[in-house]
Amino acid sequence: MSATERACPPAGLERDVPLSRTTSARVGGPADYFVVAKSSEELERAARWGISEGLDLLVLGAGSNVVVADRGFRGLVIKSISRGVRVLGEDEEGVVVELDSGTFLPSAAKTLARLGVTGLEWGVGIPGTAGGAVVGNAGAYGGEIRDTLLEIDALDSRGGTVTLANEDLGFVYRGSAIKRGEADVSAILRVRHRLSRGDLAAAEARTRELLSERRRKEPVEPSVGSTFKNPEGTTAGILIESLGLKGLRVGRAMVSPKHANYMINTGGATAAEVRELIELVQRTVFERSGVLLETEIEFKGEW
Ligand SMILES: Cc1cc2nc3c(=O)[nH]c(=O)nc-3n(C[C@H](O)[C@H](O)[C@H](O)COP(=O)(O)OP(=O)(O)OC[C@H]3O[C@@H](n4cnc5c(N)ncnc54)[C@H](O)[C@@H]3O)c2cc1C
Repeated sequence: MSATERACPPAGLERDVPLSRTTSARVGGPADYFVVAKSSEELERAARWGISEGLDLLVLGAGSNVVVADRGFRGLVIKSISRGVRVLGEDEEGVVVELDSGTFLPSAAKTLARLGVTGLEWGVGIPGTAGGAVVGNAGAYGGEIRDTLLEIDALDSRGGTVTLANEDLGFVYRGSAIKRGEADVSAILRVRHRLSRGDLAAAEARTRELLSERRRKEPVEPSVGSTFKNPEGTTAGILIESLGLKGLRVGRAMVSPKHANYMINTGGATAAEVRELIELVQRTVFERSGVLLETEIEFKGEW
């Protein structure tokens, strides 16, 4: 698409939609423009429209790894709920599976386990999407996205379609070239993984076991999940807890009494309160232990 070519506004486009509705922490002010993309094609069309209008673009999956400012986002927010799990082929190297970017990871993990395809069971407790998981190189229980990702189909900042391989994505622990702003990706459309043929009963049992472990350990309140990356030699949760910070509050945001790396919204918290709490924990941990915790979550919008 050339810069002068204007695309049609996407169906379902809305104005001034509060992003607190669409983020797991239930905070975030209005997006100037907001649309839900139910398929890769809708995501592509909406992104191309935003680009042709010169709007800043923010694609969200489940909004489970972002804190959006109370002032919201000046531009177009596209929420990707494009869902689909397809087995593309199988050979001696494994099973190639394609997921639409808005596919919820827990559903993908369960669907694949039912097909006897293993390698993504660890995603069963992560409340994010296949696209968002690539951006943050999500992981749990010893698995992470970069272990099995083959490639992604995406749109670049001019609306052109590109395919980027695992090695183009600069994966590091809970990060990627996309998250660092080093890859020209405005929207991930589809992701492909190379997984393995495994035992159906074992894969299903593993997803059940991981899910029940999650439920035991995690707070039930709205949150952005694990806020800080784990530092060398320990976990962020253990470190924060060891300094007695569980239950610390800023307004209606609180360090979860159940898991110290989760900042929870106890009801009606603002994004500013969540951010202030995160920065207070970071400062306190640094002053008392010398460890500078790095955030795993991203701050988005107009702060
Ligand atoms: C209770 C809880 C538990 C969690 N546990 C874990 C865990 O164990 N391990 C872990 O790694 N994470 C965990 N998380 C964090 C989060 O769920 C993951 O990082 C998840 O992969 C984020 O996916 P998402 O769809 O919610 O991304 P979002 O929060 O919507 O977005 C995250 C980033 O990806 C970008 N993005 C999303 N979709 C697209 C797309 N289609 N195209 C381009 N960019 C896109 C966004 O712009 C943003 O930069 C947890 C979160 C919660 C709330």
